Amino acid sequence: MITEDEALAHVLESAKLLPSRRVSLTRARERFAARDIFAQLALPVFDNSAMDGYAVAAGSCRPGQSQHVIGEQPAGVDRKLRIAEGEAVRVFTGAPMPEGADAVIMQEDVRRDGSEIFINGEVEPGEFVRRRGSDLSEGQKIIEAGERIRPQTLALLAAQGLVEIDVGGEVRAAIITTGDELVRPGGSLGAGQIYESNSILVRALFDKCGVSIAAVEHCADDALSIEAALRKGLAHDVLVIVGGVSVGARDLVKPALTSVGAQTDLWRVSVKPGKPFLFGRAGQCAIFGLPGNPVSAFVTFLLLVRPAILRMMGANENELSLPKYQAQLAEEVQNRSDRPHYVRGRVAHGKFTPVGRQESHALYGLSRANALLRVPPGEIFPSGNTVPILILD
Ligand code: AMP
Ligand code: MG
Repeated sequence: MITEDEALAHVLESAKLLPSRRVSLTRARERFAARDIFAQLALPVFDNSAMDGYAVAAGSCRPGQSQHVIGEQPAGVDRKLRIAEGEAVRVFTGAPMPEGADAVIMQEDVRRDGSEIFINGEVEPGEFVRRRGSDLSEGQKIIEAGERIRPQTLALLAAQGLVEIDVGGEVRAAIITTGDELVRPGGSLGAGQIYESNSILVRALFDKCGVSIAAVEHCADDALSIEAALRKGLAHDVLVIVGGVSVGARDLVKPALTSVGAQTDLWRVSVKPGKPFLFGRAGQCAIFGLPGNPVSAFVTFLLLVRPAILRMMGANENELSLPKYQAQLAEEVQNRSDRPHYVRGRVAHGKFTPVGRQESHALYGLSRANALLRVPPGEIFPSGNTVPILILD
């Protein structure tokens, strides 16, 4: 049995970067930048007003003294107005600053009488003026290769006038579920049967990584059906097979992989839940065998499949693991096993509380969890201790 770190290192080593592609900004969210991007435009683009008010020369404004309003400068055109001492221009938010003006007085701080304004207080140079380039200089790096494209990143790219961006490649993925006992939701359960819930789980986890699933197939515990499904599944970049990777007589995935010519690189990882995890390859396809117990499938997906997918999509190192935060334990947590245990729990107001049963079939607890706590083998974390937790949402 190998450690999580060894398994992750091997999986990442095998995850090949897919060729980058150019996509419209509307399709770029949650992808990863294929290269560094530098600003081609300073922001703000020109000096402009941060308020609706009056542009003035701060040095010529005295409290109680009037300024003569010589014109109006709206946003969207540059009327090339120029003020002299004692003059002001009516401006609106985003309007270009008139020449000679170095401050804007909010309209609320002014009393207007005809074409004169009277200023209530002091005026500081630069007040309510958004200077060209004060947010971003031309040539400044705005996105790093491998960085996740978020809504706010998209806004910055659009503000640069861009409509497209080069992002990492698209992962084509397929899912195979296995098990004689499984019935598709919507059908009726016979004695001894349960509903198949892993395909929707894994599909949603892929979806969260920005990958849409090309094919989902369910197989009975039957070598020939599994082999047939595998042959189709191997045409994708990533194939996830759930169930049938354990050590039972009906765990047929490992021999089926050999039969279809796939290699198994590793099998069984020292982690709880999730020990039967398998990783193999066939040509360009990375194959992940996840244990059928839903919590095991969930945990191993996040620890070992997600980083590999993100790496293939061009993500940099920082993006690969789940976000980590420090939280205080609301109760004592022990791990009596000889494997690291990922305890499911809820974090709220900086406190982590384990939720539900901590066994690998226990879906209800998992459904309430928003964080995982890794407890090393044999460890006791006392209540009140500060521990690092992995955030799920
Ligand atoms: P296996 O890994 O095939 O030995 O399955 C371990 C446990 O997970 C068994 O109790 C299975 O019934 C259950 N299981 C396997 N696959 C699924 C699935 N797709 N949906 C729900 N439960 C499953
Ligand atoms: Mg099974």
